Amino acid sequence: MKLTRIETIHLAEHATLLFVRLHTDEGLVGYGETKYAPEALRGFIHDYAAPLLLGTDPLAIDRHWRALYEYGARCGVLGVEMRALSALDIALWDIFGQSAGMPIYQMLGGASHDRMPVYNTCAGPVYARTLDRAVGKGTAGVYEDLDAFMTRADELAEELLSEGIKGMKIWPFDPFAAATGGQRIGLADLETGLEPFRRIRKAVGNRMEVMVEGHGHWSLPAAKRIARAVEEFEPLWIEDLMRPDNIDALVELRRSTRTPMLVSEMLQTRYAYRPMLEAGAVDIVMVDPAWCGGISEARKIGHMAETHSLPVTFHDCAGPINLFAGLHLAINAPNAMYQETVRAFIRTFYPDLVTNNIDMRDGYAELPVGPGLGTALLPDITGRADATVVTSSLT
Ligand SMILES: [Mg+2]
Repeated sequence: MKLTRIETIHLAEHATLLFVRLHTDEGLVGYGETKYAPEALRGFIHDYAAPLLLGTDPLAIDRHWRALYEYGARCGVLGVEMRALSALDIALWDIFGQSAGMPIYQMLGGASHDRMPVYNTCAGPVYARTLDRAVGKGTAGVYEDLDAFMTRADELAEELLSEGIKGMKIWPFDPFAAATGGQRIGLADLETGLEPFRRIRKAVGNRMEVMVEGHGHWSLPAAKRIARAVEEFEPLWIEDLMRPDNIDALVELRRSTRTPMLVSEMLQTRYAYRPMLEAGAVDIVMVDPAWCGGISEARKIGHMAETHSLPVTFHDCAGPINLFAGLHLAINAPNAMYQETVRAFIRTFYPDLVTNNIDMRDGYAELPVGPGLGTALLPDITGRADATVVTSSLT
């Protein structure tokens, strides 16, 4: 089997997403996805990756990963290059599964779980369509979970519980970071940021797990102050109160609080996670398959976490292909803890993009069905008025 065509598909409506579609001479078609800087991603995929991949065997997945990694590593492989590699790797696994007639979780070693618990990341339907997270509030009026956690977290917690969802991720301290560049958080702002926690615990007691997201905004002393303040509400984890740039600072933050610390979809490749684990900076490992190096690399990072007796969770705040990739990994990984989901995405725009949506019931994602990823972009998606398709073909 040979790779004959590599397409990138961009939709203006989802400006930060980029999809890849790989074709083989046997008629198999594999899908991948990644997010942010789509023009740069497209440039790397068509100018650098396509000449390496076209005409080769799509099932030589590890060889392709290493070739693209080493090619990119000449000038620093992280960032755009690794996200492009991630999207291509997911598409290769999709082809691998289809060629065997099995779901990817089976190709990874089989199902360690019958279904996977999910939590709701409380974003709205158009959250992260641009880099400006302040634009995360939509106008559609449905599933405006960001607005909801900021203003009526108690009602949102009750609503999620009524759907069977028993975990919610919120970031109520973010609005206060800009004023000080994240260097300091005042006691009044801290109090305001604690209000959602108070409302959740008052409304639903301990029936809801709460995850604290920090998006890397804070300095070490500010992060320690926030971590200490949220302790009384027993969050399941604190995530990226600081960017994961300084291992010693992360270790100090972790030792300053009894709340478990999650690190972090901001890292790419096992080489970035290894020193974090070895230094004791981490309680829970989070990976994003579409950023960290694809299914191949996310799997290895999950194994590293398992070796350190730590759980792994799979990040998704992008599109449906990444969610399916994460779910296959989670179903396989014995140490999987959660698959992240954004119900506002799954219920508003995922059905406009893919043939099969994720099957969520009572706070769990069911096993994906069918060979490969078990979903694909809708066949007419490239005919959309806002679609830009760029093709590299075997000549
Ligand atoms: Mg995060």
